[in-house]
Amino acid sequence: MERIVIAGGGIMGSCIAYYLALAGAASAVTVLEPDPTYEFAATPRAVGGIRLQHALRENVEMSLYGDQVYSAFAEHVRGGKVEFDPQFRRRGYLYQVRGPAGIAALEANVRLQRELGVEVDILDVVELRRRYPSFRFADVDCAALSPADGQVDPYAALMGFRKAAEGLGIAYLKDRLAGLELSGGLVRQARLASGVSLPVDTLINVANCWAPEICAMVGMSVPIEPVRRQQFYFLAQQQIEPIPAMRHMDGLSVRTHQDGYIVGATNPRAGFDWEMAHEVFENVLWPQLAEQCGAFEAIKLKGGWLGHYDMNRLDGNPIIDRFDKVPNFILAAGFSGHGLMHAPAVGRAVKELILDGGFRSIDLSRLSWRRVVEGQPLADDGPTA
Ligand SMILES: Cc1cc2nc3c(=O)[nH]c(=O)nc-3n(C[C@H](O)[C@H](O)[C@H](O)COP(=O)(O)OP(=O)(O)OC[C@H]3O[C@@H](n4cnc5c(N)ncnc54)[C@H](O)[C@@H]3O)c2cc1C
Repeated sequence: MERIVIAGGGIMGSCIAYYLALAGAASAVTVLEPDPTYEFAATPRAVGGIRLQHALRENVEMSLYGDQVYSAFAEHVRGGKVEFDPQFRRRGYLYQVRGPAGIAALEANVRLQRELGVEVDILDVVELRRRYPSFRFADVDCAALSPADGQVDPYAALMGFRKAAEGLGIAYLKDRLAGLELSGGLVRQARLASGVSLPVDTLINVANCWAPEICAMVGMSVPIEPVRRQQFYFLAQQQIEPIPAMRHMDGLSVRTHQDGYIVGATNPRAGFDWEMAHEVFENVLWPQLAEQCGAFEAIKLKGGWLGHYDMNRLDGNPIIDRFDKVPNFILAAGFSGHGLMHAPAVGRAVKELILDGGFRSIDLSRLSWRRVVEGQPLADDGPTA
């Protein structure tokens, strides 16, 4: 039987392991995860949005499959000795644009989303103000509302997949991939930090922000960088109407969280940065929030957290492909802030790549390594993460 080593046991590694196990390949698979607490991993730090509004067909289709799985988790993810419930809730998503180019892109993207089965409506400012009277929508021409967009608990989703994979016989090794031995243009051995070596027939790199280090082991240079994303949690003194996740094309995003709201900010600089920059809330986000919604003038900052996106600088979309120079090396990284919603689809797709000879359920061939080599970004004018 083929020996499959998965480097990274976050939501991606765990979904891939789960789908391989469902297909009967559990005994072939070892997942390497150095930190079972996932302290610095992106997954437990995610917000958990399952967004159906994207500009690329592949992203919409992957989100729709994510929706299917997360919204009926116990039906889809079986085998765990301990059951986890990611608590899927439908919250809705409102993407706001302004200007002729913003409107044209939104209309084209809504057409695509509808063709693929997403329920989505375009609302003008009069309708927006009628539905969400606390908001001014001063710099908005129209917005797309997809009421079915969901939210999950990311840690429960991760543990649900991991426990299910383990329940089906997948082995997780608490170890770090430290090096790869190649011969004849193929990966043959994985050297681990503990000193152990594992024989390899297929190596899957799903180490997220750390994926470039592993790519370097086979001479693959990827345009993926960690980018800090902060979330600030605040309470508003005045109660307002229920709102969907709201996102403006210029970047401001606000959504409900526990008994308050969260607002996010992406660092313009790349690189790991584990310090919360609290001044970003006070100096940048709060004034914007107050401008959008009078009730957000009187708020209380309650806390926040940060994590890092594995940002693909080429086009903000993942690379899910074999490396042409070392074909038994598969990369699935560069999710740029959408990985949680797409993880079930990626798990199934990578299983298909290995066991079925190519993508079968969703054609992900445009998310190729080739586009990186050729410097051909996928045109994507939809909401970013
Ligand atoms: C603040 C924030 C908010 C987000 N919100 C959303 C959202 O609302 N919706 C959404 O879909 N996505 C969201 N994301 C993105 C999402 O969290 C990620 O795309 C997803 O979790 C990536 O999963 P992963 O398994 O690839 O990475 P990770 O969870 O980071 O797992 C990678 C693992 O690899 C391990 N590793 C590292 N080096 C090695 C090595 N050498 N050998 C073996 N293992 C190694 C690490 O220990 C880690 O556990 C958000 C991200 C952040 C930071």
